[in-house]
Amino acid sequence: PGPQLPFDPSKKTLVILGSGWGATSLLKGLDTGDYNTIVVSPKNFFLFTPLLPSVAVGTLNARSILQPTRYLTRHKERQVLVIEAEAKEVDPVNKTVTLSDDSEIQGQISSTTIPYDYLVYAVGAETQTFGIPGVKEHACFMKELHDAEKMQRRFLDCVESAAFPGQSDEEKDRLLHMVVVGGGPTGIELSGELRDFLEEDLKSWYPELASRIRITLVEALPNVLPSFSKELIAYTERTFKESDIEILTKTMVRKVNEKSVVLKGPDGVEREVPCGMVVWAAGNTSRQITRDLMAKLPEDQTNKRGITFDDHLRMKGARDIFAIGDCTTSSYAPTAQVASQQGSYLSRVFKLLAKKDKLEADLSHAETSEGAEKLKRQIDKIKLKPFHYSHQGSLAYIGSDKAIADLPIFGREWTSGGVATFMFWRSAYLSTLFSLRNRSLVAGDWVRVKLWGRDVSRD
Ligand code: FAD
Ligand code: NAD
Repeated sequence: PGPQLPFDPSKKTLVILGSGWGATSLLKGLDTGDYNTIVVSPKNFFLFTPLLPSVAVGTLNARSILQPTRYLTRHKERQVLVIEAEAKEVDPVNKTVTLSDDSEIQGQISSTTIPYDYLVYAVGAETQTFGIPGVKEHACFMKELHDAEKMQRRFLDCVESAAFPGQSDEEKDRLLHMVVVGGGPTGIELSGELRDFLEEDLKSWYPELASRIRITLVEALPNVLPSFSKELIAYTERTFKESDIEILTKTMVRKVNEKSVVLKGPDGVEREVPCGMVVWAAGNTSRQITRDLMAKLPEDQTNKRGITFDDHLRMKGARDIFAIGDCTTSSYAPTAQVASQQGSYLSRVFKLLAKKDKLEADLSHAETSEGAEKLKRQIDKIKLKPFHYSHQGSLAYIGSDKAIADLPIFGREWTSGGVATFMFWRSAYLSTLFSLRNRSLVAGDWVRVKLWGRDVSRD
């Protein structure tokens, strides 16, 4: 059985894979009256990733940064079919997607293949482990909602285990040593959040243990935050030093064990460092489905880092597939800013394509040559502008109520760091949240934490 929706054979079928930044931004701007639209994602919600590290320490409730995809689609002009399933295979020749419901509970049917006229491929990426032993088994990630929830549970478990009567000092120090791997914005923001939790809450909840909690950030490159300006890198390193967060640069994690990490420092010597928790934030890599799709177009898809596309975001080698966001590789950074601009660009592209497709359909039925000429002229007038990315700046939270910002203002780079930037960071993200509901939930959480602190219950 094919998908069910008010199917209109005169309209093309648009299948969107994903419900992240790229897909959601496309859906927001899409005129669903033009297409039979189907959204497929294993998550039936959009996750506001910039605030994920705040969820990991309980500053925000998880639900505050989620938006159900149906919340967006139910207000659309024409019904959109939302399918909670994982796309398993894309066939660019026969133009089909095979999907399956891998969730805990399944009905009699849990797998199907659907045809598409246009496919928007926005499945994002997964965390890169470089095949380093022990990462998958012992480290926490910071990419999905369940990663943040797992980290929160594990962190509090370490603290409670350290509080167990009779624990030796050495074991307490191990359990309370938190290692964050990766000095990109994810690792920096998470370390800052951990520090806030320690200073603002744990010191009063666990006064006998708090002084033993250590946070170490490990970065393979000579400095953290390579995408930020030099002043802000230095400012972050200073702030971390003042906050007692140790930064180990030029240091590679070689192995993660259950109770330790193996580090290779600038001297080339490997040493084993005991720890209670490792958070792995070492960047992105392509998902298996993306690698499989690229392998089907070996002549056009030659860059192993992700899908390459043309000026209109069409996947090279497959004109009817548009690829956006972290599953692609280009001169743009893999950021929410890029993915969401690509998504809104595609919503404009699909408006024009619908117009063009309708004219072409009319042309095939034109009764007079005069009518046909007129339609051809109208079709020729429809020109798709290439995608243009407009960088709005980079922002990151670094803990201690401080944030950093690199902002292009009137063509010049403006850098700023500190408490005022933190207020700007908060207001920028509050206004970027997609709905009023999320805005009020997040603002409410900030007030809750200010008044009563973070919760230390572990479920
Ligand atoms: P995603 O948002 O990851 O969405 C991918 C979607 O595809 C998800 O809904 C997923 O469930 C779905 N999916 C996965 N597999 C399949 C499949 N097989 N079939 C169908 N659907 C599938 N960027 C910024 O610009 N600013 C920030 O402050 C910022 N902070 C961040 C903080 C953190 C902790 C993280 C992890 C990232 C942050 N980023 C930030 C980066 C940003 O989140 C990503 O660049 C962005 O999410 C990319 O959007 P996307 O749509 O390509 O992928
Ligand atoms: P990243 O790729 O930016 O950083 C990962 C870091 O991990 C790199 O600096 C790398 O050198 C280091 N690393 C890799 N392997 C290592 C190892 N074995 N040992 C030690 N260090 C190792 O990853 P990210 O921070 O997750 O960011 C991913 C994308 O999301 C980026 O484009 C980033 O700009 C974006 N993002 C932006 C924000 C923000 O703007 N505030 C926040 C989070 C993420």
